[in-house]
Amino acid sequence: MGAVKLDALYAKQDILEISRRFYASIGLPIEDVLGRSDLYEKEGKSSHAFSADIDREGDIRVLANIRPNDYWMNTMLHELGHSVYSRHIDRQLPYTLRTEAHMLATEGIAMMFGRVNKRAEWLRAMLKMDPRQARRYGTESRRTLRMESLIFSRWCQVMLHFERALYANPDQDLSKLWWDLVEKYQGLKRPEGRAEPDYASKIHLVTVPVYYHNYMMGELFASQVHHAMAKQLGVRDSGSFAYVGRKEVGEFLKERVFHPGAQYPWNELTQLATGEPLNAGAYALDFMRE
Ligand SMILES: [Zn+2]
Repeated sequence: MGAVKLDALYAKQDILEISRRFYASIGLPIEDVLGRSDLYEKEGKSSHAFSADIDREGDIRVLANIRPNDYWMNTMLHELGHSVYSRHIDRQLPYTLRTEAHMLATEGIAMMFGRVNKRAEWLRAMLKMDPRQARRYGTESRRTLRMESLIFSRWCQVMLHFERALYANPDQDLSKLWWDLVEKYQGLKRPEGRAEPDYASKIHLVTVPVYYHNYMMGELFASQVHHAMAKQLGVRDSGSFAYVGRKEVGEFLKERVFHPGAQYPWNELTQLATGEPLNAGAYALDFMRE
């Protein structure tokens, strides 16, 4: 099933209203955040999406450019995931600790929510889709998500190993290093005789150096928190758990992940929140089986 059909699901839906209803249903209302946010396209406006905690005193805003399609449903769920994290950090903490435990933690929470509209139960409950159709869409969307995640995990290996080797020895042949890693981890073949600095086309190397691994670690964190919640709430089929209407989801996240802010190093927080240090077990459960 291509993106076209998924987009059709949202053609007559109000993405903002769905986001509002979903987050309220899990006990993490976002009215105040949306009230301060700038959510639709305007001339000259940034075409991206992000959530910003302006003052660490509760002024949290989202910038988005909502259109009625699958991409923007996903993106709103993702960005508002960042927002609810910021919103529930303990305000009694000193300013420097009144922030997320680590980029990977807030990215992980955002990714966890960004995955939820791929589950049949979410589609049924939030879009009022009939259960059979929801199951069909759910299965197809999860297959797509699985492929995207696995392909992305290989790409992250290229970035991680490239940056590690680059900073260890910046004078080596970086073009060769780049294509060696692409061949090894992505299984792609370098073009014959290619000796251009192709690595330099990846903007993160310059704008956010030594950051990329956070995306992969965020994916692991997302899966690990999801499974810890499912276990805690007695949900047997974690694969279909879509949170809708479960206020305990909000309680779990507030207490175990959001409230502590940056009091603990990220791996200590992961241990406290999920009972284990960060590892690939839950991610494997989510994406390795079919
Ligand atoms: Zn994000």
